[in-house]
Amino acid sequence: MSRVMLLPKCTSCGRPIAPYEKAVSFRCPNCGEAVIWRCSKCRKQGNKYVCPKCGFEGP
Ligand SMILES: [Zn+2]
Ligand SMILES: [Zn+2]
Repeated sequence: MSRVMLLPKCTSCGRPIAPYEKAVSFRCPNCGEAVIWRCSKCRKQGNKYVCPKCGFEGP
């Protein structure tokens, strides 16, 4: 079986996020359209994210 898995990518570091990871996803607080993903590492380090849609920067 060769099913292609579409993994979400961390918005901060661009790393693909595995399903078992403790990542969070939420909508951009500014435009409410883009979905922001943050991997466990970026959450810990408090890395900034930039909304791909409106360019909003958040912690
Ligand atoms: Zn990350
Ligand atoms: Zn946005």
